[in-house]
This record gives sequence, C-alpha cells and structure tokens, in this order.
Amino acid sequence: MSAGTAPGAPRAVVGGWATPRALCVLAPNPSPMTLDGTNTWIVAEPDSELAVVVDPGPLDEGHLAAVVAAAEQAGKRVALTLLTHGHPDHAEGAARFAELTGTAVRALDPALRLGDEGLAEGDTVTTGGLELRVVATPGHTSDSLSFLLPADAAVLTGDTVLGRGTTMVAYPDGRLGDYLDSLRRLQALTVAGEADTVLPGHGPVLGDARGAVEFYLAHRAHRLAQVETAVEAGLRTPADVVARVYADVDPLLWPAAELSVRAQLDYLREHGLIEQP
Ligand SMILES: [Zn+2]
Repeated sequence: MSAGTAPGAPRAVVGGWATPRALCVLAPNPSPMTLDGTNTWIVAEPDSELAVVVDPGPLDEGHLAAVVAAAEQAGKRVALTLLTHGHPDHAEGAARFAELTGTAVRALDPALRLGDEGLAEGDTVTTGGLELRVVATPGHTSDSLSFLLPADAAVLTGDTVLGRGTTMVAYPDGRLGDYLDSLRRLQALTVAGEADTVLPGHGPVLGDARGAVEFYLAHRAHRLAQVETAVEAGLRTPADVVARVYADVDPLLWPAAELSVRAQLDYLREHGLIEQP
C-alpha cells in the first residue's frame, strides 16, 4: 500500500526479469494504494530448477496460475513461498498458492506461516543454491521483512520502499520510529554496496537503491517537520493535519495518509516534540 504518489505520475510497466535472478509477475490489482498492482517475485539461481516466490499476492486464481506458469516457462519449479508482510495484497493468495505448488509459506508473523519454519532477522534462506538474507524492516507494518539477494546486489523491499511515490506507516501496527530505523538499515546496505537495486512490492524496479532510500529518509523528515508545524499552528485532529500537510496528495489516499499522520503525531509526542493532547 502506498501514499504520496502524485496523480498522473507515469505508470511504468513492470514485469519480466529485473536482475539475472529475479523475475516479476504483476498481479492484476492496480489501485491508488497498490500502484500498477502487486509485484510477485520469482527468484532463482540461473542454473537451478528450484525457485523461491516472494509475495504470491491477492487471492486471484488467474494470477497465482500465471506465477506458476512463469516459473515453469523459466524452467523452474516453485520450492518455497516467502512473505514480506501480511497485508492482503501481498499475502491473501499465499495459502492457495502453497496448495497449488506444494510449498511451505515462511513469514515473520506465525499466523501467516504454513509449515514448520518461521522467518526472522538474520536468517539466510538457501534454495537451489540461491541465497536470500532476511533483513527485519518493521515500520510499514510490524511484521515487514526485506530480502537481500547478494548475488545480484538487490533487495526485495515489499512495501518498505516502493518503486514510485512513498509508502505509508500503517499505524498503530506500523511505527514511525521503527520505520526510520529500517530505512537507515537499508541505507547502510546501499552504502556498503550490498544493495544497488530495489525490487519493490509495487511499482517499477529502482536502479539507484541508495538514492531511493535517501529520498525516503528526506521525505519522512520533511513530512514530520510539516506535521510538527501544523500542530504548532493549532491543528489538533489527525484529519485536520492531513488536510493541511497532504493537500498535494490525491484525496483517495487521505485515509492512508491519516494513519501515517497518527504515526507521526505519536512519534512527535514520544520524543517530546509536541505536547500530549
Ligand atoms: Zn503493505
């Protein structure tokens, strides 16, 4: 889910091979919140028959079948399903997809898992020689994970970093302080040269991961300053703050923006920057 995308922004086509090891299948669920739709990722070593699928997407039989077919066309068999987080546009189809492919589903949230294995910070998932490193990136939601694909210097970010616009902090499950820490973790990976490319959960692939993460950090700081100013100007309710601070954003996204504003107000209160209402 996203907020902050300018209306009328170019709608780049996504889908196809983004890196030597990552193939995108676009789900047919476009909306102001999901951009072009959910990116389902098939990830595999070029010389291996085994593939990992990240975020099967919505419960859409046609899409789930298309993911299986795309893997087969690439000479792969899906051996494992991973989830970046539990939002339905990423995870709703996971149980059905697992049934279709006979795979386990691994996720941070135990309620989303199918099979014995969980998934947590520091885990390395190894399938058919493919290595994915789990990076905890809470903030959009508390269960958000990113997956580093070291062989391609790429990172699958789910909804933590999107291919266009900015994302939302889904308060109260998502927390702004966590989100800023997660962006800094991703920034450190980009500075170290471990992640050059962002493979996002929505929108086009980003070839400048460091620039993208730094844009997100700057955007968050800018919005936070705007919210603080709005409160100092006497605005009190989240809805009033949204109308002022997100005046440049499509009103269709205001409900999502309001969650982000609540997260920002909470953060400002926690840090003693505004008074408790
Ligand atoms: Zn989400």
